[in-house]
Amino acid sequence: MTTRFIFVTGGVVSSLGKGLASAALGSLLQAHNYKVRLRKMDPYLNVDPGTMSPTQHGEVFVTDDGAETDLDLGHYERFTGVSARRTDSVTTGRIYSNVIAKERRGDYLGATVQVIPHITDAIKAFILADLTDEDFCICEIGGTVGDIEGLPYLEAIRQLGNEVGRARSLFIHLTLLPYIKTAGELKTKPTQHSVKELLSVGIQPDILLCRTDREIPDNERHKIGLFCNIPQDRVIAALDVDTIYRVPVNYHNQGFDREVLRYFNLPAQEPNLDTWHHIVERATDPKEGAVTIAIVGKYISLLDSYKSLAEALHHGGIAGNVRVHIKWIDSEVFEHEDVVTHLEGVHGILVPGGFGMRGAEGKIKAIQFARERKIPYFGICFGMQMTVIESARNLGGIEDATSSEFEGKGTAIVGLMTEWLKGSQLEKRAKDGSLGGTMRLGSYPCHLTKGTQAHKIYGCDEVQERHRHRYEVNLNHQEAFTRAGLVFSGLSPDGILPEIVERPDHPWFIGVQFHPELKSKPFAPHPLFSSFIEAAKKQSSLV
Ligand code: GLN
Repeated sequence: MTTRFIFVTGGVVSSLGKGLASAALGSLLQAHNYKVRLRKMDPYLNVDPGTMSPTQHGEVFVTDDGAETDLDLGHYERFTGVSARRTDSVTTGRIYSNVIAKERRGDYLGATVQVIPHITDAIKAFILADLTDEDFCICEIGGTVGDIEGLPYLEAIRQLGNEVGRARSLFIHLTLLPYIKTAGELKTKPTQHSVKELLSVGIQPDILLCRTDREIPDNERHKIGLFCNIPQDRVIAALDVDTIYRVPVNYHNQGFDREVLRYFNLPAQEPNLDTWHHIVERATDPKEGAVTIAIVGKYISLLDSYKSLAEALHHGGIAGNVRVHIKWIDSEVFEHEDVVTHLEGVHGILVPGGFGMRGAEGKIKAIQFARERKIPYFGICFGMQMTVIESARNLGGIEDATSSEFEGKGTAIVGLMTEWLKGSQLEKRAKDGSLGGTMRLGSYPCHLTKGTQAHKIYGCDEVQERHRHRYEVNLNHQEAFTRAGLVFSGLSPDGILPEIVERPDHPWFIGVQFHPELKSKPFAPHPLFSSFIEAAKKQSSLV
């Protein structure tokens, strides 16, 4: 293996956009015709983010092979198109549980098991695993330098830098250059301190990415270089942007890719960034107006919970050459306020994924409004389940239709599946099993029914989409569903699990059991999102 390693750390404060920086660097290296992989190491003790609250941690990004990962992996995929794998994401919780399991098996032959070398070895093994012909592996370390939890990772990458050799390893550090108005200056001190912190664990950064709201004047660049022991050309500005898709172009203008390639002694021809220029143009200056989409969810106190969803809608906007305004609505408001006051005039309504009873009735009211007023409607995962419940209750004659996810009485037309097929293999789960990693996760095939809207939108007979749910619509109630006017236009290959539902009597009314937003890219918008935005465009010409 001749893969080169790029380690990305962050300092000063969190939320500077390390994930985006890594993703954008990945896309630039691809533009130079290199093959990349991106990886994320998260220093928290959860085994994976699957059990973490979306309003604390943001969205859980699901990979094709069924791993529940950090939302940064979504950025990686959206910028590079490389499908992330289970082996691209790890947490301290996972590392420790593996090491402790090994210790219990007696694999350490009586040795005292310690952070160094056992935890650091496990981290290094993670970084090196499952790579073949990649030219670059970009590894992002979560958190900020100086966090106690991050220390084993820094020690591991320090060691690895020596082991693979400095010619094959590069340390990039992302910091903040705040502009202090009263002084009229960009301040370099936090960056100096952050680099000092890294030096104290034995890492000299090779390139500094400085997040700033303006260009860095030459004298400041010089000063940072001097204090941080870095050539001035390797002090790169990471400028604030109007759209995240401008980041690759900006980085290139700042010479970031040139410096990375120069570090590795690789030739740097002018890369072709036409795709990114086109995306930026469409995202910032769309020529066909604007549409407003209401997202009726319950995790809206942290919009990162819907990261991929918001991006996928914007990709639909890129495809349709329109600006997409998102109106975020907490579904609980519909428990005491009229839906009309919030939803009147929007051009599309989307009910996203979710867990638990809270807010569900509000979502059902929003769905009813979309159905009756013939407003384009898109239900995703939980949103699809509520779509079927709404129709079953109001049109199918099952007035007490509910989901077994909710406690209480009623006819559970959405129920817990304990067995299902993955390919030819039977997957099982216990009814009262633990919550972590026990959902139907990852990519599953879906057969599309000819003559349906879904079939027309996708333009093929079978698709693969990613799942993350425990419950399924139960087709034993097919008669009531038919009475309610629902058509299941996508099913699992064995015909048991409904994957897509639609209403032929409505201009655009589709619910999907999977998460199409996870596969949408700015350069390849997901067909369902493009089509939904197209329908919203039509709606906007009506209202
Ligand atoms: N709570 C639902 C289930 O587990 C839906 C999950 C989701 O929307 N991702 O089936």
